[in-house]
Amino acid sequence: MMSHMKDEHAFAKVAYFYHRKDADVFFQYLQDFRRRLLALQPSEVLNLNLNYQDLLCQHLKALHPTLDPSHLPDMRDYLRVELEPSQFDAEYPEQLAEKGYGAFPYFLWKEYGIAQLYYLFLFAWRDYGPQSLDRWIALGQTLLDSVYAYDWPPSVFQAAEPCPICLQTMVWTRTTVCGHVFHVHCLTKHVLRHSNTCPLCRCPRPMADDDDD
Ligand SMILES: [Zn+2]
Ligand SMILES: [Zn+2]
Repeated sequence: MMSHMKDEHAFAKVAYFYHRKDADVFFQYLQDFRRRLLALQPSEVLNLNLNYQDLLCQHLKALHPTLDPSHLPDMRDYLRVELEPSQFDAEYPEQLAEKGYGAFPYFLWKEYGIAQLYYLFLFAWRDYGPQSLDRWIALGQTLLDSVYAYDWPPSVFQAAEPCPICLQTMVWTRTTVCGHVFHVHCLTKHVLRHSNTCPLCRCPRPMADDDDD
């Protein structure tokens, strides 16, 4: 059921890619790296004003000075933060999102963030030899914090709710003037294609907040 997890997949791939004489040592480090990454928790205090992307770049520059900038993990590209759980090509993102209380951001970190770090670790090891794990864990913590500090709607950290229009778990939500909550795209589609009323209570101009901008 959980056999298509990106973390496991990336781990196996990276371990397989490395063929040099010290492959045994590399594998040990990689295993250790994995164990420590999986044990990380988001920092209790997140600095929402921090530019995590800049910070990640600085960390990586120090760890791998000649790394091509296109390999830097970018939240939008790699972590897919803006996707709805139902848009993933597997069912378990949605099952996890249904748990609410931040389970979805944690899923993105675990499956996409950690997977990305294995590759970066491989590149650094290949180009510079053995790596100090502490510095890589500091990078991992920054990446994990960046996922949690992302501009999530508050609903992501509460009990998950299904969208009243499409019935799938919501991440990116929109609250109407009458206080009803829908997927952003489901509500917009309804207003544009059907009628400019709330799908639940038929209150007129449910997205009236937009008109004022
Ligand atoms: Zn919907
Ligand atoms: Zn309503």
